[in-house]
Parts: sequence; structure tokens; C-alpha cells
Amino acid sequence: MSKVRKKLIIANWKMNPQSAADAKRLFAEVKQMASKLAKVQTVIAPPSIYLPILSSLYRGHRILLSAQNMFWEEKGSYTGEVSPKMLKDIGATYVILGHSERRAQGEDDQAVNRKVLAALKAGITPVVCVGESDRDHREGTHLTFLRSQITKALKGVSERQLVRIVIAYEPIWAIGKGEGAAMQPDELHETVLFIRKIITELYKKQVAFRLPVIYGGSVEPGNVATLLAEGEVDGLLVGHASLSAKSFNEILKFAQGGVK
Ligand code: PEP
Repeated sequence: MSKVRKKLIIANWKMNPQSAADAKRLFAEVKQMASKLAKVQTVIAPPSIYLPILSSLYRGHRILLSAQNMFWEEKGSYTGEVSPKMLKDIGATYVILGHSERRAQGEDDQAVNRKVLAALKAGITPVVCVGESDRDHREGTHLTFLRSQITKALKGVSERQLVRIVIAYEPIWAIGKGEGAAMQPDELHETVLFIRKIITELYKKQVAFRLPVIYGGSVEPGNVATLLAEGEVDGLLVGHASLSAKSFNEILKFAQGGVK
């Protein structure tokens, strides 16, 4: 199933670039490539403040917009927060939830779960980030950790809702480094299978296999082809390499060619 689906390539701009003018410029350069690629679903996740500007620059479906976070409540006295409905209203169709950089600031599994449920309710696709900080092959503690993160994030999600979720597997030890630090494709493939096994323990097999599982962690033009082909992932979450239009467009091109 994952072979015929469009590859999902998400650019996580994090807290960059530093001005709206630079954000517009980067978006325009990516748009030139992304709008031509029929086999790739490109998603740009800028800082929320740039979402309305970018959504006014593009009307097609080959590029969709994502937020990097949101709050679970619909409205009210929550200073500094943004609601799912507000995001939907300004044109975001995805939201990254439970990114390790947010978890490092105290976001726990319960908060991630509340946000997942709220995003689904509002009709936004949650990109649920999971991943261990290190691997212990003897004890397998990273597997126990992954199982716990996934199970907690999906608590209360129905079978019907599950197909609207994306799991982003992002091993923390591989994030924000260079091309050589990304996970080895064979190890990634094994982990993706393990993630699918966890989901099949919770939901029907056919439904579990429709859920896109993507990978993030030092994806660059030099490793994208093997990660996609041998890692058997449905797409990629790209951090630092998405801040250079040249690098990100290369990644998009590989993703277009990599779809069988
Ligand atoms: C991320 O933090 O989501 C990420 C994938 O970052 P990088 O590509 O820089 O490792």
C-alpha cells in the first residue's frame, strides 16, 4: 500500500527564517519545484506567524501547510496559545505534535494525546512525533519506550480516525546532525515494522497498514534515496535541510523518483 501512495515530505522550519520576507522567498523557491511533483505531497511547517502569509501565496494542493504545535482547547483564557480551529481557518491542514524539542520543554504524553484528539476533532491531520533518545539493543528499552509513546498518543483515537494520522519516527539521537548521522536504512526498516506491529496490536491490521509512517533525523540530499527506498517509509520530516531551497528541492526530486 505504501508503495503507491504519494511520498509525504514535511519541512519543519522550526523557529526560522528570521523575517516574513525570507519566509516568502524560501516558500517561493520551494513552490517552483513542489508544484511540479505529482508523486510527492509537500508540506511546509513554518512558524505559525507566517502561515497566513504563505497560504495567501499558493492555492493548489501539491503544497499544504502545517503548524508546529497547537493547544487542545477550542478557545478561552490561554495566553500565548493557538487553537486548532484558528489553524484550520488560516489554511493549515497538518499540525506537528509531540516534537522532541517540545517534549524537552515539558510536553508530556498526556498533553500530546489531548492535542491529537483536538486536532482530529477540528479536521487537522496530526503528525505525531515519537522517538527514543538512545538505543539499548541488549535490553530493548528503546522499543518499550516507543510502544509507550505511541500507545499513549493514540489513546481514545478510533479506527476511523486513525487513518487521518501520520506517525513521524524521529530518533532524538539522529536529529540536527549531518548526513552520516541519520539512522541506517535497515535499522529504520526494522523500526518501522515494529511501529506497525504496535499499531496492529491496537487496531485492525488493514487500518494499521494504511497509516503513514515517516522518518525524521538528519535527512539530507545525500541520504534521502536510501532512507526512502530501503527504510520503507512513507515520507520524511526534514529539519535543517528544509531551510535551504536547494537542498530541500533536491530531497523533493529524489522523493518523486523514489515512488514505485
Ligand atoms: C526535526 O527536528 O524534526 C528534524 C528532522 O531535524 P533535522 O532534519 O535537522 O535532523
